[in-house]
Amino acid sequence: MFNCSQVTRTYSGRQGCMCGCKGKYTEADARGFKAMRDKILRMAVRTDVDVDYTPGLGLFVEVESETGLDTGRTYALYVD
Ligand SMILES: [Zn+2]
Repeated sequence: MFNCSQVTRTYSGRQGCMCGCKGKYTEADARGFKAMRDKILRMAVRTDVDVDYTPGLGLFVEVESETGLDTGRTYALYVD
């Protein structure tokens, strides 16, 4: 799909608008980037999430489970 070195930005936020009002973008040179990137990579293989991958754009993960800390959140990895 893509190599993790191609990830340039991550996103974590509540589902809905992704302008930044409901969450946070983290650039590759920012603190916490690798931890968030790896968290999203681990989440993408869970069964309670909806994963959407668009080549050249990135990977989007929507958490749909009824319980848990990540419920109702969207995570994204943007790739080069
Ligand atoms: Zn917004």
